[in-house]
Amino acid sequence: MSTDRFAQSAALLERADKVVPGGIHGHQTPAMLVRGEQPYFYERADGCRIWDVDGNEYIDFMCSYGPIVLGHHHAAVDEAALAQWRKGDCFNGPSRLWVELAERLVAITPFADWAAFAKNGSDVCTWAVRVAREHTGRGKVLMAKGAYHGAHAWCTPSSAGVTPEDRSTVLTFPYNDGAALEAMVGEHGDALAAIIVTPFRHDAFHDQEMPVPGFLETIRRLCTERGIVFILDDVRAGFRLHLGGSGKHFGVRPDLACYAKALANGYPLAACVGAEPFREAARQVYFTGSYFTAAVPMAAALACLDELETSGAIDHMREMGQLFRDGLEDQARSHGLAVTSTGPPALPFMTFRDDRKFARSKAFAAACARHGVFLAPYHNWFLSAAHREDDIRQALDATDLAFAEVRRKSVELFDRT
Ligand code: PMP
Repeated sequence: MSTDRFAQSAALLERADKVVPGGIHGHQTPAMLVRGEQPYFYERADGCRIWDVDGNEYIDFMCSYGPIVLGHHHAAVDEAALAQWRKGDCFNGPSRLWVELAERLVAITPFADWAAFAKNGSDVCTWAVRVAREHTGRGKVLMAKGAYHGAHAWCTPSSAGVTPEDRSTVLTFPYNDGAALEAMVGEHGDALAAIIVTPFRHDAFHDQEMPVPGFLETIRRLCTERGIVFILDDVRAGFRLHLGGSGKHFGVRPDLACYAKALANGYPLAACVGAEPFREAARQVYFTGSYFTAAVPMAAALACLDELETSGAIDHMREMGQLFRDGLEDQARSHGLAVTSTGPPALPFMTFRDDRKFARSKAFAAACARHGVFLAPYHNWFLSAAHREDDIRQALDATDLAFAEVRRKSVELFDRT
């Protein structure tokens, strides 16, 4: 235990546990980290660096689990947000940015004719399913087993507080299994409103899987043949692979696509974009929230999209992610450790082979934290445009030490049994 190093984090968690059920919710819970070996609370952030409440500095490979695509505190985004903030944020209705941002999303997304806004990925995924139901007059939804589409009752990974009725419209199939998909659609096609998938498999606790050739195309074909709505959940990967969305990156046209995280570089905003045939259903399905029209996140989103488009950020993230991945693989080899690298370079992940209960992954993430690199043991990582080559090289100096620790621990602990 690095008790002193994380004393403030530990003390805050103890206080939080008394007044917030569970202390810290959801994917940012300490249970998704290495308890006692990684920070829980943060003081500040800048570029690709974060500082925890104990004053420890890290090169950040989680990017707030996705939202930070240009880097923390990005000047152009913050300036745009601040300029809007001076004029006001939360009005009786939207600002002109509501229209401008919808126009922008329609312009950059090949299949989209309209956009709708919300605050979270869960909001837009659930709403997209309802739009599909309204459009088709059918009730069921087919999703990949283990995929994450949000915290709402139909799709939350936890069974707590969920009734069988909440799940009764949801069917599952294994991601990338075209035959199983065909069979499910064969059997349930007439009852299916939607097939919802992520552009590649990025479930926590799992190696990532890119879509096998033909998988996304099979979804497209089956949806077209059977009148089912194809929803691409691009909440996690959106704008890290292509400005036109991950559908554009993988060469497939969904009917609806959901965005959140990277859309506004950390300001709270989500969007669902859709094709013309779904406009009427989208008009009908009630959708609102106290903050859905807030102007500041929309100013941030417009600046973020401008920056993504003009700065080469997406290519840069891919290159930096590849540099990091290649470096990690070389180091693992030189330490005699077998690892598996998966996912696109801008959202990389690495696991250790034959790593029961993620013991090596945990040791690695803990050692990385000790040496100034923050990454999660069970969840894919994220690059941002603020990661420069020097940062990657500095991170690799830390990971080399981390691999050495895993190697030592492997001999002492894991390989004994
Ligand atoms: N879909 C995917 C693929 C996600 O990664 C997430 C968030 N991790 C969500 C939906 C839900 O988004 P939010 O947490 O903003 O509600």
